[in-house]
Amino acid sequence: ANRKFHPHDTVIDCGRGVLVGAGHFQVIAGPCSVEGESLIRIAREVKAAGATMLRGGAYKPRTSPYSYQGMGTEGLDLLCEARAELDMPVVTEIMDPRDVGAFLDRKIEVWQIGARNSQNFPLLKEVGKTDAVILLKRGIAGTIDELLMAAEYVMSEGNPNVIVCERGIRSFETRTRNTFDLNAVPVLHDLTHLPVCADPSHATGHTRYVGPMALAATAAGADCLEIEVHDDPKHAWSDGAQALTPAQFADTMTRVAKVREAI
Ligand code: PEP
Ligand code: MN
Repeated sequence: ANRKFHPHDTVIDCGRGVLVGAGHFQVIAGPCSVEGESLIRIAREVKAAGATMLRGGAYKPRTSPYSYQGMGTEGLDLLCEARAELDMPVVTEIMDPRDVGAFLDRKIEVWQIGARNSQNFPLLKEVGKTDAVILLKRGIAGTIDELLMAAEYVMSEGNPNVIVCERGIRSFETRTRNTFDLNAVPVLHDLTHLPVCADPSHATGHTRYVGPMALAATAAGADCLEIEVHDDPKHAWSDGAQALTPAQFADTMTRVAKVREAI
Protein backbone atom coordinates (compact mmCIF):
# COMPACT_ATOMS: atom_id res chain seq x y z
CA ALA A 1 0.00 0.00 0.00
CA ASN A 2 2.97 2.27 0.60
CA ARG A 3 3.50 4.98 -2.00
CA LYS A 4 7.25 4.38 -1.72
CA PHE A 5 6.85 1.23 -3.80
CA HIS A 6 4.28 2.65 -6.17
CA PRO A 7 4.60 6.40 -6.80
CA HIS A 8 1.58 6.69 -9.11
CA ASP A 9 -2.00 6.58 -7.85
CA THR A 10 -3.65 3.22 -8.38
CA VAL A 11 -6.81 3.01 -10.48
CA ILE A 12 -9.18 0.27 -9.38
CA ASP A 13 -11.64 -1.29 -11.79
CA CYS A 14 -14.91 -1.91 -9.93
CA GLY A 15 -16.54 -3.52 -12.97
CA ARG A 16 -19.10 -2.29 -15.51
CA GLY A 17 -16.69 0.46 -16.56
CA VAL A 18 -16.49 2.10 -13.13
CA LEU A 19 -12.92 3.15 -12.25
CA VAL A 20 -11.82 4.70 -8.95
CA GLY A 21 -8.60 6.60 -8.21
CA ALA A 22 -6.09 8.83 -10.00
CA GLY A 23 -8.73 11.36 -10.98
CA HIS A 24 -11.56 8.86 -11.45
CA PHE A 25 -14.21 9.96 -8.95
CA GLN A 26 -17.20 7.81 -8.02
CA VAL A 27 -20.17 7.96 -5.68
CA ILE A 28 -21.54 4.90 -3.91
CA ALA A 29 -25.11 5.38 -2.68
CA GLY A 30 -28.02 3.35 -1.39
CA PRO A 31 -29.67 2.30 1.84
CA CYS A 32 -27.79 1.23 4.95
CA SER A 33 -29.58 -2.14 4.81
CA VAL A 34 -31.25 -4.01 2.01
CA GLU A 35 -34.84 -4.14 3.28
CA GLY A 36 -36.66 -5.82 0.38
CA GLU A 37 -38.51 -4.18 -2.48
CA SER A 38 -37.49 -0.65 -1.48
CA LEU A 39 -33.96 -1.41 -2.70
CA ILE A 40 -34.80 -1.22 -6.38
CA ARG A 41 -36.81 2.00 -5.92
CA ILE A 42 -33.95 3.67 -4.06
CA ALA A 43 -31.43 2.30 -6.57
CA ARG A 44 -33.30 3.86 -9.50
CA GLU A 45 -33.33 7.22 -7.71
CA VAL A 46 -29.63 7.25 -6.78
CA LYS A 47 -28.65 6.21 -10.29
CA ALA A 48 -30.79 8.99 -11.78
CA ALA A 49 -29.02 11.47 -9.47
CA GLY A 50 -25.59 10.32 -10.67
CA ALA A 51 -24.48 7.62 -8.24
CA THR A 52 -22.25 5.12 -10.03
CA MET A 53 -22.31 2.25 -7.53
CA LEU A 54 -25.16 0.86 -5.44
CA ARG A 55 -24.70 0.03 -1.77
CA GLY A 56 -26.89 -1.93 0.64
CA GLY A 57 -26.03 -4.14 3.59
CA ALA A 58 -27.21 -7.74 3.57
CA TYR A 59 -25.12 -8.64 6.63
CA LYS A 60 -25.31 -5.90 9.25
CA PRO A 61 -22.82 -5.44 12.09
CA ARG A 62 -25.28 -4.18 14.73
CA THR A 63 -24.28 -3.15 18.23
CA SER A 64 -27.21 -5.11 19.67
CA PRO A 65 -27.84 -8.73 18.68
CA TYR A 66 -31.57 -7.91 18.95
CA SER A 67 -31.38 -5.24 16.22
CA TYR A 68 -32.06 -6.07 12.57
CA GLN A 69 -29.22 -8.28 11.33
CA GLY A 70 -29.82 -8.10 7.56
CA MET A 71 -31.46 -10.29 4.92
CA GLY A 72 -28.37 -12.42 4.21
CA THR A 73 -28.24 -14.17 0.84
CA GLU A 74 -31.73 -12.92 0.00
CA GLY A 75 -30.36 -9.39 0.34
CA LEU A 76 -27.41 -10.25 -1.91
CA ASP A 77 -29.87 -11.55 -4.52
CA LEU A 78 -31.88 -8.31 -4.40
CA LEU A 79 -28.65 -6.37 -4.98
CA CYS A 80 -27.91 -8.59 -7.98
CA GLU A 81 -31.37 -7.92 -9.42
CA ALA A 82 -30.89 -4.16 -9.03
CA ARG A 83 -27.43 -4.45 -10.60
CA ALA A 84 -28.85 -6.27 -13.60
CA GLU A 85 -31.56 -3.67 -14.16
CA LEU A 86 -29.40 -0.60 -13.61
CA ASP A 87 -25.98 -1.82 -14.79
CA MET A 88 -24.17 -0.57 -11.67
CA PRO A 89 -21.58 -2.43 -9.59
CA VAL A 90 -22.78 -3.27 -6.09
CA VAL A 91 -21.09 -2.65 -2.75
CA THR A 92 -22.02 -4.74 0.28
CA GLU A 93 -20.44 -5.71 3.57
CA ILE A 94 -18.90 -9.10 4.25
CA MET A 95 -18.56 -9.96 7.93
CA ASP A 96 -17.76 -13.64 7.93
CA PRO A 97 -15.11 -15.57 5.95
CA ARG A 98 -17.72 -18.33 5.52
CA ASP A 99 -19.66 -15.98 3.20
CA VAL A 100 -16.84 -15.67 0.65
CA GLY A 101 -18.45 -18.36 -1.53
CA ALA A 102 -21.81 -16.57 -1.58
CA PHE A 103 -20.09 -13.33 -2.63
CA LEU A 104 -18.04 -15.08 -5.32
CA ASP A 105 -21.05 -17.01 -6.68
CA ARG A 106 -22.94 -13.74 -7.15
CA LYS A 107 -19.91 -11.86 -8.51
CA ILE A 108 -20.36 -9.06 -5.95
CA GLU A 109 -18.00 -6.38 -7.25
CA VAL A 110 -17.09 -4.45 -4.10
CA TRP A 111 -16.82 -6.17 -0.73
CA GLN A 112 -16.99 -3.78 2.18
CA ILE A 113 -15.03 -4.54 5.31
CA GLY A 114 -16.77 -2.49 7.97
CA ALA A 115 -15.17 -0.41 10.70
CA ARG A 116 -15.81 -3.11 13.29
CA ASN A 117 -13.92 -5.69 11.26
CA SER A 118 -11.10 -3.39 10.24
CA GLN A 119 -8.66 -5.52 12.24
CA ASN A 120 -10.36 -8.88 11.81
CA PHE A 121 -7.17 -10.42 10.44
CA PRO A 122 -8.55 -13.83 9.41
CA LEU A 123 -11.32 -12.05 7.43
CA LEU A 124 -8.80 -9.65 5.83
CA LYS A 125 -6.60 -12.58 4.80
CA GLU A 126 -9.54 -14.51 3.38
CA VAL A 127 -10.74 -11.65 1.15
CA GLY A 128 -7.09 -11.15 0.22
CA LYS A 129 -7.19 -14.53 -1.52
CA THR A 130 -9.84 -13.26 -3.97
CA ASP A 131 -9.58 -10.58 -6.64
CA ALA A 132 -12.69 -8.72 -5.48
CA VAL A 133 -12.47 -5.00 -4.86
CA ILE A 134 -12.28 -4.42 -1.10
CA LEU A 135 -13.70 -1.24 0.39
CA LEU A 136 -11.80 -1.19 3.66
CA LYS A 137 -13.12 1.10 6.36
CA ARG A 138 -11.08 2.68 9.09
CA GLY A 139 -11.66 1.16 12.53
CA ILE A 140 -13.94 2.93 15.00
CA ALA A 141 -10.87 3.86 17.04
CA GLY A 142 -8.33 2.99 14.38
CA THR A 143 -5.31 5.05 13.47
CA ILE A 144 -4.40 5.79 9.86
CA ASP A 145 -1.42 3.45 10.20
CA GLU A 146 -3.68 0.67 11.46
CA LEU A 147 -5.91 1.19 8.42
CA LEU A 148 -2.91 0.97 6.13
CA MET A 149 -1.71 -2.21 7.86
CA ALA A 150 -5.20 -3.68 7.44
CA ALA A 151 -4.83 -2.92 3.71
CA GLU A 152 -1.48 -4.75 3.81
CA TYR A 153 -3.24 -7.82 5.24
CA VAL A 154 -5.45 -7.95 2.15
CA MET A 155 -2.71 -7.08 -0.34
CA SER A 156 -0.09 -9.43 1.10
CA GLU A 157 -2.41 -12.35 0.31
CA GLY A 158 -2.36 -11.32 -3.35
CA ASN A 159 -5.32 -8.96 -3.75
CA PRO A 160 -4.16 -5.47 -4.80
CA ASN A 161 -7.70 -4.08 -5.20
CA VAL A 162 -8.16 -2.11 -2.00
CA ILE A 163 -9.95 1.21 -1.52
CA VAL A 164 -9.40 2.72 1.93
CA CYS A 165 -12.25 4.62 3.57
CA GLU A 166 -12.43 7.31 6.22
CA ARG A 167 -15.77 6.98 8.05
CA GLY A 168 -15.19 8.94 11.24
CA ILE A 169 -13.53 7.90 14.46
CA ARG A 170 -14.70 7.81 18.03
CA SER A 171 -13.77 10.88 20.04
CA PHE A 172 -15.04 12.73 23.12
CA GLU A 173 -17.48 14.68 20.93
CA THR A 174 -21.09 13.52 21.20
CA ARG A 175 -22.90 15.98 18.89
CA THR A 176 -22.02 13.80 15.93
CA ARG A 177 -22.03 10.01 15.73
CA ASN A 178 -18.30 10.01 15.00
CA THR A 179 -15.67 12.66 14.38
CA PHE A 180 -14.99 12.94 10.65
CA ASP A 181 -11.23 12.98 10.38
CA LEU A 182 -10.91 14.74 7.06
CA ASN A 183 -7.18 15.06 7.70
CA ALA A 184 -7.10 11.39 6.81
CA VAL A 185 -7.90 12.13 3.16
CA PRO A 186 -4.72 14.10 2.32
CA VAL A 187 -2.67 12.07 4.80
CA LEU A 188 -3.74 8.82 3.13
CA HIS A 189 -2.98 10.26 -0.31
CA ASP A 190 0.46 11.13 0.99
CA LEU A 191 1.15 7.66 2.38
CA THR A 192 -0.58 5.34 -0.06
CA HIS A 193 -1.25 5.03 -3.79
CA LEU A 194 -4.61 3.38 -3.08
CA PRO A 195 -7.87 5.24 -3.81
CA VAL A 196 -9.36 7.04 -0.82
CA CYS A 197 -13.09 6.96 -0.09
CA ALA A 198 -14.96 9.07 2.47
CA ASP A 199 -18.26 8.26 4.15
CA PRO A 200 -19.97 11.39 5.51
CA SER A 201 -23.03 9.35 6.56
CA HIS A 202 -21.41 7.26 9.29
CA ALA A 203 -18.96 10.07 10.04
CA THR A 204 -21.72 12.49 11.08
CA GLY A 205 -24.73 10.31 11.90
CA HIS A 206 -27.20 13.11 11.14
CA THR A 207 -28.90 13.76 7.81
CA ARG A 208 -28.39 17.53 8.01
CA TYR A 209 -24.60 17.26 8.25
CA VAL A 210 -24.10 14.70 5.50
CA GLY A 211 -24.38 17.13 2.55
CA PRO A 212 -21.90 19.72 3.86
CA MET A 213 -19.38 17.04 4.83
CA ALA A 214 -19.75 15.29 1.45
CA LEU A 215 -18.67 18.59 -0.10
CA ALA A 216 -15.80 18.97 2.36
CA ALA A 217 -14.56 15.43 1.66
CA THR A 218 -14.72 16.09 -2.07
CA ALA A 219 -12.76 19.33 -1.62
CA ALA A 220 -10.20 17.47 0.50
CA GLY A 221 -9.51 15.15 -2.43
CA ALA A 222 -11.55 12.00 -1.82
CA ASP A 223 -11.67 9.70 -4.88
CA CYS A 224 -14.98 8.30 -3.84
CA LEU A 225 -17.91 9.06 -1.54
CA GLU A 226 -20.20 6.57 0.15
CA ILE A 227 -23.57 8.03 1.10
CA GLU A 228 -26.64 6.39 2.65
CA VAL A 229 -29.95 7.17 0.94
CA HIS A 230 -33.45 6.00 1.91
CA ASP A 231 -36.83 6.96 0.49
CA ASP A 232 -38.52 6.75 3.91
CA PRO A 233 -35.78 7.49 6.45
CA LYS A 234 -38.15 7.55 9.44
CA HIS A 235 -38.96 3.90 8.84
CA ALA A 236 -35.52 2.70 7.77
CA TRP A 237 -34.50 -0.54 9.46
CA SER A 238 -31.04 0.87 10.27
CA ASP A 239 -29.32 4.27 10.24
CA GLY A 240 -32.45 6.27 9.29
CA ALA A 241 -31.16 9.27 11.27
CA GLN A 242 -28.30 9.76 8.80
CA ALA A 243 -30.07 8.87 5.55
CA LEU A 244 -30.54 11.43 2.79
CA THR A 245 -33.80 11.30 0.89
CA PRO A 246 -33.38 10.85 -2.87
CA ALA A 247 -34.11 14.59 -3.32
CA GLN A 248 -31.48 15.57 -0.74
CA PHE A 249 -29.03 13.20 -2.40
CA ALA A 250 -29.68 14.71 -5.84
CA ASP A 251 -29.06 18.20 -4.41
CA THR A 252 -25.82 17.02 -2.80
CA MET A 253 -24.70 15.48 -6.09
CA THR A 254 -25.22 18.80 -7.89
CA ARG A 255 -23.09 20.57 -5.28
CA VAL A 256 -20.43 17.84 -5.31
CA ALA A 257 -20.11 18.32 -9.07
CA LYS A 258 -19.51 22.06 -8.53
CA VAL A 259 -16.80 21.32 -5.96
CA ARG A 260 -15.20 18.86 -8.40
CA GLU A 261 -15.10 21.59 -11.06
CA ALA A 262 -13.53 24.03 -8.59
CA ILE A 263 -10.66 21.83 -7.40
C1 PEP B 1 -22.29 0.66 6.85
O1 PEP B 1 -21.68 1.04 5.83
O2 PEP B 1 -23.53 0.53 6.91
C2 PEP B 1 -21.50 0.49 8.10
C3 PEP B 1 -21.93 -0.33 9.06
O3 PEP B 1 -20.37 1.22 8.13
P1 PEP B 1 -19.21 1.28 9.23
O4 PEP B 1 -18.58 -0.07 9.23
O5 PEP B 1 -18.32 2.37 8.74
O6 PEP B 1 -19.87 1.62 10.56
MN1 MN C 1 -25.14 2.26 7.93
